[in-house]
Amino acid sequence: MGKRLLSKNLKRTVLSAALLVMLGVMMLFAHRVFVSQALDGLFERERATVALHTENVRGWLGRYRPLAPTYAHYSEIIGLLKNPQDQQRVDDINLQLERWTAASGASDTYLLDRSGMTIAASNWNAAKTFVGNDYAFRPYFQDAMQGRLGRYFAMGTTTGVRGYFFAYPVQDGGPPIGVVVVKIQVGLIEQDLRASPHQVFVSDQDGVILLSGHPRWRLKTLGGLDNEVRRRIGKRRQFAGAPLPDVEIQGLDDGAGERLRLVYAEPDRSNAAVKEFLHLSQGMTVEGWTVHLLVETRGARRQALVYTMLLGLGLLAGLLIAFVFWQRRQFYLSRLAKREQIQRALERRVEERTADLTTINARLAEEVAERTQAEATLRQTQAELVQAGKLAALGQMSTALSHEYNQPLAAIRTYAENAGAFLERGQIDKAESNLGRIAKLTERMASLSKHLTAFARKPKDTTGPVSVKAALDEAIALLRGRIEASGAVVDVRGVDDVIVTGGQVRLQHVFMNLIGNAIDATAAASPPRITVTVREVEGKAAVVVEDNGTGFAEDDVERLFDPFFTRKEPGKGLGLGLSISFNIIRDFGGMISAENISGGGARLIVSLNRPEATLEAAE
Ligand code: ADP
Repeated sequence: MGKRLLSKNLKRTVLSAALLVMLGVMMLFAHRVFVSQALDGLFERERATVALHTENVRGWLGRYRPLAPTYAHYSEIIGLLKNPQDQQRVDDINLQLERWTAASGASDTYLLDRSGMTIAASNWNAAKTFVGNDYAFRPYFQDAMQGRLGRYFAMGTTTGVRGYFFAYPVQDGGPPIGVVVVKIQVGLIEQDLRASPHQVFVSDQDGVILLSGHPRWRLKTLGGLDNEVRRRIGKRRQFAGAPLPDVEIQGLDDGAGERLRLVYAEPDRSNAAVKEFLHLSQGMTVEGWTVHLLVETRGARRQALVYTMLLGLGLLAGLLIAFVFWQRRQFYLSRLAKREQIQRALERRVEERTADLTTINARLAEEVAERTQAEATLRQTQAELVQAGKLAALGQMSTALSHEYNQPLAAIRTYAENAGAFLERGQIDKAESNLGRIAKLTERMASLSKHLTAFARKPKDTTGPVSVKAALDEAIALLRGRIEASGAVVDVRGVDDVIVTGGQVRLQHVFMNLIGNAIDATAAASPPRITVTVREVEGKAAVVVEDNGTGFAEDDVERLFDPFFTRKEPGKGLGLGLSISFNIIRDFGGMISAENISGGGARLIVSLNRPEATLEAAE
């Protein structure tokens, strides 16, 4: 279990680590895409800027380009070149050149003769005048002497000032007789370049930076110059011997183009930080120059970073939401599983219980069958016992009966003999009286025999409304012999006639048992007293038999109703009377109980149901 948990945790950790790494890689990739997109956007936007600067430079040059050709056609200039020794002409042209220069905004305007010597110049009056200087080595002179517009960027050998030179041949119907040169200053255009929010500079075909808004980059090279080029530059004294070191921009290559390039430079020494720039460039075909634009990438990168961060936040939020959903689902699933488990357990338990119940049911059914069987047997036995009890009582009674019958029989014989004698003597009255007595005695004997037949008969089990009084009277009548013999006083009290549910003969048998027992128990009492009280209580009737006899021993009370429980001598009691009575009363739906009377004697209480129906013979 622990191991499994550990491996599960490990798995989860590895999984989350992998997820994090994947996320990281994704973010990196996304960031790169964002950066490249931002840079692309910047590149596209700034292409217009570099084109604008190119146009600006081209415009700047274009403004001055027509000057030299115009001047070259001026007749006074042709005149001077034809008469170079004429001082008056020289002075006039000097003044004219000075005026033109001032008007055009050029730096200098001067006139070379066909050998390259300066014969007149706008700065004739300055300390470092060009007049008298030989510029035959300058390519612009050579170009012009070949009949075309010479154009050249150079640092002035005389002034040490950078400038652009336009040169045009002066012709008088034949080959060039001289050259007009207009030098323009770079200050103005560099001011324009400097005003740009970006770094702008212009390089020539050799990769030398001619113009730059940034002063430190002027006259530096984009990539090292080879010796051939250096020699050529030196020969033409293009940059007046300037050292031409490499410019402090890393990543530059000279291939001007359309593609995106990043370079690094410290454009401003004050904060001396290397910054990253996007390098854009555009070529100028006529001059062979390239206009360069360095745009800081910081803004674009920052924008890309913001996008990346937003994406990261979005991803994190997404992950978080996914996680929350996952957890909720997990929770729900586990709850479902638990519920299912509980349900399954419940179902199993129900099944088990059902099985148990089925077994129990089967057992119960068996038991019920057994009980029914036992009850049937019991009933059978009880019926037999009732019969046996009756027989026992009959045995007892037969002794009494033989006494009962013998005594009247003897009396009848005596009365009969006497009646015979009275008849012989003619004493008819007396004989009649004796015969009457005989008739009475036989009546009594007939009544006795009727009771006996009724008693010996096994009763039907049916119950119905019976009279308590009738049953009591019958029982007492049957016991009259014993009552008289014992001298007991039997007192019947209470409600005169109560109808209860039962069987006449069986109820009478119960009363006979109870009163018989009371007679036995009161044998030693003087005088023996037996009280029978009939009461009505809440739809029931109670018959209470009390005597002033011995009462019961404490331990016997519980066993009184057990079959064969007796305290009487052998031959006197079978111990069935109360047991049979108990069963009879129970069959009637009633109750029988026994208790001692506190002053001495026993109390037996028979409780019986009272039917709603009218009295009807039960048997
Ligand atoms: P039997 O009369 O044959 O003994 P019973 O079931 O009628 O059987 O009575 C059981 C016993 O209960 C008697 O032996 C007697 O000891 C006791 N008993 C019954 N009625 C009384 C009574 N009224 N007073 C005292 N003892 C009694």
